[in-house]
Amino acid sequence: MRVRMAPSPTGPLHIGTARTSLYNLLAARHAGGTFVLRIEDTDVARSTPEFERDIIDGLHWLGITWDEGPQVAGGTDIGPHAPYRQSLRLELYAREAGRLLASGAAYRCWCTPEELEAVRRAQEAAREPPRYNRRCLSLTDADVAAFTAEGRRAAIRFKVPAERIGFDDIVRGEVEFDNALLGDFVIVRNDGVPLYHFVVVIDDEEMGITHVIRGEDHLSNTPKHIALIRALGYREPRFGHIPLILNQDRSKMSKRKSQTAIAAYREDGYLPEALVNFLAFLGWSPGTEEELFTLDELADRFEIGAVHRGGAIFDRDRLDHLNGVYIRALTDTQLALRLRPWVPAAVDDAGLLAIVPLVRERLVRLGDVVGLAGFLWEPDAVVSSWYSPDLLRPRNGGPEAAETALAGTIATLSAMAPAEFAADEIEHRIRTAAETAGVKAGDFFTPIRVAITGRTVSPPLFASLELLGRDRSLARLADARARLATSGAR
Ligand code: GLU
Repeated sequence: MRVRMAPSPTGPLHIGTARTSLYNLLAARHAGGTFVLRIEDTDVARSTPEFERDIIDGLHWLGITWDEGPQVAGGTDIGPHAPYRQSLRLELYAREAGRLLASGAAYRCWCTPEELEAVRRAQEAAREPPRYNRRCLSLTDADVAAFTAEGRRAAIRFKVPAERIGFDDIVRGEVEFDNALLGDFVIVRNDGVPLYHFVVVIDDEEMGITHVIRGEDHLSNTPKHIALIRALGYREPRFGHIPLILNQDRSKMSKRKSQTAIAAYREDGYLPEALVNFLAFLGWSPGTEEELFTLDELADRFEIGAVHRGGAIFDRDRLDHLNGVYIRALTDTQLALRLRPWVPAAVDDAGLLAIVPLVRERLVRLGDVVGLAGFLWEPDAVVSSWYSPDLLRPRNGGPEAAETALAGTIATLSAMAPAEFAADEIEHRIRTAAETAGVKAGDFFTPIRVAITGRTVSPPLFASLELLGRDRSLARLADARARLATSGAR
């Protein structure tokens, strides 16, 4: 089995492309085959090195590797069929176009966009399906000479045989299309640029691809490809079309409506291993209750023929759940390393490691650490700006209750020596202060929590106080007390 992924670097790595890449990888690994990455950059105007980098880096980040093709963006191609970049394979395409012209399976077309548009409008008026009217199939030498003299340049069209084309799709089973409805399509533009349908077929043949596994959006392209394969005398690979990923409302995941860029998931703090598991199960299942799989375990169980036919619904809650499961399976040190990109450098490694136990149970995504623990590294004034003084009031009590708790806590903490300032001891003393004041613990803690973390929901309070340190804690409590006094909330 030789499979390939052939992304066009005309946009960032899309979640659907990532899943199709994963299925190709799993199919290849399962069969002991070869996975090829090919860069389909014939659309020069829309292809950029930045998108290519985003795609290759994104696949690598997910742990998706390939056996042939460029290993780094812009780097040297590795493998017996190099180059794996279409813009460097133009001679091959020109040679194959020449073969089709010579055999009469393709012909030159001199029509201008205006002429084609006129044909299209006439067909529309006559309620005929729009397709090329084959005017240039029967030109005389004089016509050609006239066009050439006018400075026109010819495109090359494939003369599509009017026949039904059926194939046994690995995922969908038997499918059939009628190519009689197609019309002759352009395979080489009049500026010499060869187009997708043509080059994809040539490359798949030249690279010995045995199984074309791609998104369902390409299903209707396949009869065109098969017609070209036959005209060129190639072997026909097996085709498998993977159902699209759908939003919860079953609409197509589009760039505008949905989060489709893998980089965005990475920035949110999804773990690559969670995302890979999630993607693997979008349209396939090993039929067991087990939840977490490594890539190797997935490859063991994966069967491309067992991929579901129906669209796969993107369930964000499930992704969040999986991500949390993976986060909680990490050791403190591992989690600290993963959190590093979200935590400022001013928090040193020891400081970061100390934060981990506070947040690990509450993290859905790594990026949540900013909301949960940001109070530890943000300046006091910033944290103060996160809350309005009325939030200091406990649920069962007015401003007086807040004042009692803040004043009591300030007195309590001020009396503690730095060496005593540890979570357990802090808790013990603050609970005692609450009892002395005759206030329920929960109500006593609310104003402290808001003053210290700027939020009503936070990591464990006493560990938070310990990490913030006595002096900064006291400063925030004093600030809260002052704001309470002047706010009228009192
Ligand atoms: N370059 C095409 C795409 O990005 C590849 C399609 C295919 O796999 O044949 O959609």
